[in-house]
Amino acid sequence: MFVKVASRKKASLREVLRRVYGNFSSSGGNGSFSCHNHRTRCYVQEMGNDFEDDDGNMELVQMGAERTKNVLILMSDTGGGHRASGEAIRDAFKLEFGDAYRVIVKDVWKEYTGWPLNDMERQYKFMLKHVQLWKVAFHSTSPRWIHGCYLAAIAAYYAKEVEAGLMEYKPDVIISVHPLMQHIPLWVLKWQGLQKKVVFATVITDLNSCHPTWFHPGVNRCYCPSKEVAKRAALDGLDESQIRVFGLPIRPSFARAVISKNELRAELEMDPDLPAVLLMGGGEGMGPVGKTANALGKSLQDKESGKPIGQLIIICGRNKVLKSALESENWKIPVKVRGFETRMEKWMGACDCIITKAGPGTIAEALIRGLPIILNDYIPGQEKGNVPYVVENGAGVFKRSPKETAGIVTEWFSTKKDELKTMSENALKLAQPEAVFDIVKDIHELAQQRGSII
Ligand code: UDP
Repeated sequence: MFVKVASRKKASLREVLRRVYGNFSSSGGNGSFSCHNHRTRCYVQEMGNDFEDDDGNMELVQMGAERTKNVLILMSDTGGGHRASGEAIRDAFKLEFGDAYRVIVKDVWKEYTGWPLNDMERQYKFMLKHVQLWKVAFHSTSPRWIHGCYLAAIAAYYAKEVEAGLMEYKPDVIISVHPLMQHIPLWVLKWQGLQKKVVFATVITDLNSCHPTWFHPGVNRCYCPSKEVAKRAALDGLDESQIRVFGLPIRPSFARAVISKNELRAELEMDPDLPAVLLMGGGEGMGPVGKTANALGKSLQDKESGKPIGQLIIICGRNKVLKSALESENWKIPVKVRGFETRMEKWMGACDCIITKAGPGTIAEALIRGLPIILNDYIPGQEKGNVPYVVENGAGVFKRSPKETAGIVTEWFSTKKDELKTMSENALKLAQPEAVFDIVKDIHELAQQRGSII
């Protein structure tokens, strides 16, 4: 099916739509196709007036004033980082270009397709619970021929659903912030003859050891958060002209509107004087958060006076079991236990250091806030490389043991304040708060070039 549809490349767009419609309607499915084809037609019409050239190819011509362009950001809640990056890009578009872009952040797979694409969150959580399973899945699907065959099969099976999902939003620009969202949409654009009309960009959200499905030579741009990732992209066949290295996109609220620590502590009802450590485990509250919290509860209490020498903020993300377990503890130091927080920049701005698993989003945010980082865990595969990124740049340490982690924080808050300060300075040197703005400006240029081509 894939080969047959892909060979339509030279047909006119009208012909493509007719043939795609015909083929898909005979292949069974969920019966939504006439609606979907109507959407596709609207999309073509909204993009501009159309005419056919000498070869019968339909060209799209944009007339008159600039219209609002649609940007569709493809993501999935497998972890918290993809959504956070997607929303960061959306917010930066708004800040930079106002109403010139309408940006939608969506898990199109979940809404439009079936198993296994619509169930990625649950599968990902399951595999992370049995982490060896994830390790095997990550490494065994790395060779291109393996993930290529797998994704081609899924693309063929769900082509019309994905197509309907994409066309619903009539995108001028598609941005993928997920490793599994390059191949299928690019094939769909190819089948529709829309490759030259729609800008497709990948924004990689892993800092170092990322999965090869991130790299697809068919993209207009591949934004790499670090030079290491850019090297991998080049080795995987992307041309230099496709690659840009700006950094990981972080919500503009981290880069802009910086409020003082004192004000933040007042707003968050924290102790104004005690140094504060933020403890978290990504969007899902993963890693040894509970044990580390208990170790900190003991070590941050002065043995002689019984007084606290620090305060603890625990952000459990979506892990409700962890949250209720920690809420029922009898703490001897000031502790705040929170669930999923939407204003992470405030909590990070109010603290002095952070303990987290090696999630790229959390690391990049902590660097912007100048927080020394204790990494206490990492997801095998994509997060492993984040550990040397932090440690070798002097912005933090790696310790698995909750007791040792608590010991380091206690020293930072008492006898080793200088070390804390030096690490904070190193963190700020690594930070790339402007990355998200550089990315949207570059995409804007690409979109404008597209606008003048058609
Ligand atoms: N996050 C959040 N609220 C929470 C917990 C986490 O907004 O309560 C955000 C966090 O700021 C970061 C992202 O979720 O942007 C976590 O991404 P990361 O790459 O660190 O780990 P993941 O959850 O993707 O494994």
